[in-house]
Amino acid sequence: MSKTIAVIPGDGIGPEIMAATLEVLDALDCGLVYATVEAGMVALEKHGDLLPKATLDAIARHQVALKGPLTTPIGGGFTSINVTLRRHFDLYANVRPAISFPGTKARYQNIDIITVRENTEGAYLAEGQTISEDGEVAQSIIRNTRKGSTRIVRYAFEMAVKKGRKKVTAVHKANIMKTSSGLFLSVAREVAKEYPQIEFNEMIVDNACMQLVMRPEQFDVIVTTNLFGDILSDLCAGLVGGLGLAPGDNIGEHAAIFEAVHGSAPDIAGKGIANPCALLLAAADMLDHLGMVAKGTAIRQAIRDTLAHEHDAATPDLGGKGSTRSFAAAIARRVRQAA
Ligand code: NAD
Repeated sequence: MSKTIAVIPGDGIGPEIMAATLEVLDALDCGLVYATVEAGMVALEKHGDLLPKATLDAIARHQVALKGPLTTPIGGGFTSINVTLRRHFDLYANVRPAISFPGTKARYQNIDIITVRENTEGAYLAEGQTISEDGEVAQSIIRNTRKGSTRIVRYAFEMAVKKGRKKVTAVHKANIMKTSSGLFLSVAREVAKEYPQIEFNEMIVDNACMQLVMRPEQFDVIVTTNLFGDILSDLCAGLVGGLGLAPGDNIGEHAAIFEAVHGSAPDIAGKGIANPCALLLAAADMLDHLGMVAKGTAIRQAIRDTLAHEHDAATPDLGGKGSTRSFAAAIARRVRQAA
């Protein structure tokens, strides 16, 4: 049976890495049909709108989108398109896997950590940010709710069960932020009781940063609030060699958007050297989400094998001599062989 997904190529290197990703998906024969729609500068220039209604409608209709990076123009009162998408579709879970790949310039090998970040509340509220008239006092609100905390912690545990993970660590600052972080922690403790098969651990955020740098192997799944998750997931990406291998999944009840964590990289756009792996790994997560777990695993394995045995085909950011196209072709060949 075929499944239609919304595809948003995006800006800058977006169209290049999207073409590479779709080449690998096609090699896997997933039965996906692509409804290509626009957002970002491309959409602004063509339709006078950074996020046209047709794009929102396509995501709502197909419930799954694969998205290239989008450029939000600086100034002019534009809100980030990514933030708008998150709010519009209530994409409450931001899932950021950090996996080691061979032959990359990373501090550690054998890392496999998934950060599950609450994506809609916490310290990132649009409202409640004030500055006094004299400019001397700036204030913002942190708001965590029982509902928001419960659904993100439950998401992390459900994901751990589904993916055969062993341990969930709730990261917090409840010793100081007794109300907001305290509520999150007490909800995490409650929800953890429903999953006795998964080890539950809790850690204060500053200690978590140190532990991640010193002994990352002790982490499996991390669940945390918005601001801490934003910071920790980039820290984890750094542990495995940076943004070129970092996918980001934005999951809600009614829609899910899969993307690379990096931006539109205007400095290398059009040069054919963008690394397609972050978007490819997002596509692998998308296949997991669609129930095609073996195919998602095949993409990750093909990237691993290409980097281990055919490193020259990789893009220069990973130390290779290849291009976006040579890298994608090598990965596509391996998934075809494995099928
Ligand atoms: P960036 O991630 O685009 O680039 C940072 C550096 O990493 C650059 O040197 C770039 O060449 C390199 N890089 C990024 N992706 C790469 C890839 N796939 N292969 C090889 N090298 C890569 O960050 P930026 O320059 O701060 O942002 C550029 C634009 O992207 C901005 O308009 C920003 O708003 C947007 N952005 C979008 C998203 C998104 O849509 N999810 C995320 C971050 C930034």
